[in-house]
Amino acid sequence: MHELSIALSILDMAEEEAERRGGRIVAVHLKLGPLSGVVARALASAYEMAREGTPLDQAELVIEEVPIVAYCATCDVEHLPDAFDLRCPGCGAPTPTIRGGRELEIVALEIVS
Ligand SMILES: [Zn+2]
Repeated sequence: MHELSIALSILDMAEEEAERRGGRIVAVHLKLGPLSGVVARALASAYEMAREGTPLDQAELVIEEVPIVAYCATCDVEHLPDAFDLRCPGCGAPTPTIRGGRELEIVALEIVS
């Protein structure tokens, strides 16, 4: 399962960081875009399973879902397409330039000492 290996690497990274700073992680904040190929709900449940028995077993995973941002060079505008319709609302041309939506990154860790 794809999401499980991602959950494990999130735990690894967070654990390393907690060791370096000293303290206990209470929450991991993650940014997730729809083009990352990861389903938020699946990741959340994989994380719950994977954190058991680790130093992060009380740490919450907070997923912030960010939208797809597409850019039209003709109109020089960014827009937020619906789902996977990437046409520009201004001129109707396909917008191959994607500026957001692929995110899968830890943006913050909440640590208590
Ligand atoms: Zn356009």
